[in-house]
Amino acid sequence: MEYRRTAVIKLDTPEGADASLQETVEQFKHCANTASEWCWHGDDGYHVTSKAKAERALYDQLRDETDLTANLVQKGIRRAVEAVKSGVSRLERGENTSQPHFSADSAVYDKRSATFHRDHVSLSTVDGRVECDYILPDDSETPPTKYVSDEDFEFRMAHLQYHDGDWYLHASMRKVEADEESSESESKHRTVLGVDLGVNNLAVASTGRFWPADEFNHWRQEYEKRRASLQQCGSRHAHENIESVGQKESGRFEIHLHTVANELIEEAVENDCSHIVFEDLTHIRENIPEATWQHVWAFRRLYEYVEYKAEEHKIEAIQVDPRNTSKRCSTCGFTHDDNRNGESFECQQCGYENHADYNASKNIGLQYLRRRQNAGDGGAPVDVRLNRGTLNVSGEYVPPASVEA
Ligand SMILES: [Zn+2]
Repeated sequence: MEYRRTAVIKLDTPEGADASLQETVEQFKHCANTASEWCWHGDDGYHVTSKAKAERALYDQLRDETDLTANLVQKGIRRAVEAVKSGVSRLERGENTSQPHFSADSAVYDKRSATFHRDHVSLSTVDGRVECDYILPDDSETPPTKYVSDEDFEFRMAHLQYHDGDWYLHASMRKVEADEESSESESKHRTVLGVDLGVNNLAVASTGRFWPADEFNHWRQEYEKRRASLQQCGSRHAHENIESVGQKESGRFEIHLHTVANELIEEAVENDCSHIVFEDLTHIRENIPEATWQHVWAFRRLYEYVEYKAEEHKIEAIQVDPRNTSKRCSTCGFTHDDNRNGESFECQQCGYENHADYNASKNIGLQYLRRRQNAGDGGAPVDVRLNRGTLNVSGEYVPPASVEA
């Protein structure tokens, strides 16, 4: 049995946070209204009611136009698509309606853009995270205190709303009765797809699938060449040309990265993976010294695309600490600089040999397994999906036959 409740929680915003929250809901409204306009006027005279289609058309533009995180941009687009959908059904029933417009100060948060605690929430804003305490009635039997203090009620998502000078969280909460819990995803066996990012191969999956960077590197070099020759002219006209070359090229890169992201999702779906694990992108420039700014840009874009596309398939994209993932042997764990030589990996201890990026992708998956184990949450077992079979946290290899059994 599942119970759903909405808890309306008044927020105690820290000094100076008001402006950040206000700007965040403004930009969220901009996303929703831009998407509403586009979806309502549609494609060849048809209203657009597909989230995927709207995201494809508007995501990059809105990311450029706002300071919002990928997740909030996506939520803004989706909110508009939902509204356009109901508008379209009203039209179908012969009722009068017009293009949805969003004027209320409100934004939609899920567990990626907000971290819900029992006494406060951390919200993603245009200026980074903002932490707000809850202002709750003392009586523990009165909503919202009743639900917020009950650990059995889980936060699903929330609307942040501004009303009469105060901020409120309209949180959707859910309680699942024990007998159903076993069928919930929390206790489901997890299988992860590890992904290594790099300059020779944009991505390598732990299943052994490679996405070479040839095409990307070719475009990048062409772009640098054209930019250099334009720069020699030195005129104002040349400067404008450089910018238009840049925009054209980044458009081509984006299309290419969407394709790679789609194929990564495909790989995860085909292999029954619940998680796609990447290395932490915060310090990627230090971890991959050969990476140019275009590579770094591409890695971040790729991760964002995977993150939002994965959601549709109930797959989660995560980042883990990348330390030693390229020097560590994915078979015996021995870690040494000499293990890796360019694209080849040879373990100095056990002799395991493989492509260095493939070895790294397995380590990235294993890193997530270790993190889960160290968290000691007694959670479900986790395996890394390999090209044949899986690898578990004790380093045991399970061949495909017994996986199917
Ligand atoms: Zn080894």
